[in-house]
Amino acid sequence: MLRTVSRAVAICDDCGTTASDEEANILVLFDAADAFKTVTKVGGPDGLGPWAVLPAVGLVCHDCHTKRVCAELGHDWYPERPCLCVDGRLRGGCPERSQVCSRCHTVHTTHQRNGGVR
Ligand SMILES: [Zn+2]
Ligand SMILES: [Zn+2]
Ligand SMILES: [Zn+2]
Repeated sequence: MLRTVSRAVAICDDCGTTASDEEANILVLFDAADAFKTVTKVGGPDGLGPWAVLPAVGLVCHDCHTKRVCAELGHDWYPERPCLCVDGRLRGGCPERSQVCSRCHTVHTTHQRNGGVR
């Protein structure tokens, strides 16, 4: 016998991505409550971080959540370190510095501060 049953997937209300596991397989879950539990658990559905529920937005993926937190509170920078851009690889060291946000992984370099694009 073949029968169609309904299952639940979690979709980010911000970017529209569908929750997937570590191997990028879309997670199809038993029901909405099960899907909710899976994406909001510690580590999230794919080990990269939990999804969150935001008022006025809905259910958002880890990426969108961290970007929104950073947009509101500012980035949470790791200490500056030497820039690892292509310049450095070509000339054996770039004199500029770079900073990575520990939350959303945005990278800022002093190239940008000086008007550059890297
Ligand atoms: Zn998203
Ligand atoms: Zn950030
Ligand atoms: Zn550089």
